[in-house]
Amino acid sequence: MFSDFGGFPAGQPRSVYRVDDLAGLSRKVSDCAAHQQPIRTRCFAHSMNGMAAPRRDEVLFDLTGVRHVTWNGRGSITVGAGLAVWELDQYVRRFGWKLPVANDGGASASSVGGFIAAGGIGKGCMFYGGFWETVTSLVIVTGDGEARRVDRKDPLFAWVFGALGALGVVYEVVIRLVPASAARPRAVPDAASLPEVPRTRWPPHLWLTLFVAEDQRNDAMAFLGGLADNNPGVWRRRSAYEYFLQFRRFNPPLIYGSSTDFFALGVWGDRAKEDQDLSGYLAMEAEFQAVVEARGWRRYYQSELIRDRRPLERYVGVDCAAAFGRIKVACDPAGLLNAFMAPA
Ligand SMILES: Cc1cc2nc3c(=O)[nH]c(=O)nc-3n(C[C@H](O)[C@H](O)[C@H](O)COP(=O)(O)OP(=O)(O)OC[C@H]3O[C@@H](n4cnc5c(N)ncnc54)[C@H](O)[C@@H]3O)c2cc1C
Repeated sequence: MFSDFGGFPAGQPRSVYRVDDLAGLSRKVSDCAAHQQPIRTRCFAHSMNGMAAPRRDEVLFDLTGVRHVTWNGRGSITVGAGLAVWELDQYVRRFGWKLPVANDGGASASSVGGFIAAGGIGKGCMFYGGFWETVTSLVIVTGDGEARRVDRKDPLFAWVFGALGALGVVYEVVIRLVPASAARPRAVPDAASLPEVPRTRWPPHLWLTLFVAEDQRNDAMAFLGGLADNNPGVWRRRSAYEYFLQFRRFNPPLIYGSSTDFFALGVWGDRAKEDQDLSGYLAMEAEFQAVVEARGWRRYYQSELIRDRRPLERYVGVDCAAAFGRIKVACDPAGLLNAFMAPA
């Protein structure tokens, strides 16, 4: 049985397919398409909305074995989607480089593919923009089994970030590194499969994150503070957090709708023993969602614990959801990939 970090009701898939190489992945997706077989993609299950938890009739695609690293020269590497962002950052640092953006927390959490599926935010966003600015191209297998290299010029590129795997299975990614210090960096050695560092046991964190413009920041902060103050029993509260995301080339439409800098503001804590069934937290989450919609704000729904099955337009607005729907049909005509927040 497979659940996720948020304890989504565990599901048993029809079968598990462990991805090894691109040709095999492409064949398997084609085979599923030929048999109208729904697919669920999963890596480390560090998500909390059930998108990595398989339903009964689905084939589970497990990406944890896709761990290659290839040096392309001049600070560029191609990496398997199943590498943890953090461990990849640790690896390249040995040779004088760093990832412009990695997950926070100083330990292994999301995979490269999972980080892209969520969007990808960390402290480095202040200087380099979101993780979407770290990636220069990716190889994705769409719902018909076609393997496509998608670069920044391809209109699909921006939509893959935040799409929660609904447009295709990301197999590998080309990443632009930056020097970690003033010292001259060296070539990063290739690895057919980078050895895995032991997985970290994280506390049972919960968070709610708003994406807002600079002139909405104070309002949004006050709202988040009030929400957390009024719901003390839902978690062991931690200090609020704030990231500044510099706008560079683009923002993924599923993350933020304007071509500007924005702030990610959040409140968080660890699940409270008194709220084991999450009823308090889920009531707070529903209140949060209602205000986000009323104010026309965005939230990082891709990374949060959500149990309601809401239509996408309630997170991203009617126009963005409709545009995404057209892209979804083009990439996954039979709608087999990662049914969006479907019930167990
Ligand atoms: C402790 C913790 C710390 C975190 N820190 C951060 C942070 O600092 N910044 C941040 O932005 N987010 C953070 N997150 C959120 C996290 O990045 C996302 O939940 C991410 O999707 C998890 O990656 P994963 O590899 O575990 O994916 P999974 O949980 O396995 O899957 C999540 C989604 O990604 C899809 N997916 C996974 N791999 C692929 C692939 N190769 N191709 C296509 N779709 C795929 C799945 O289908 C699913 O929809 C954190 C989460 C946790 C639990």
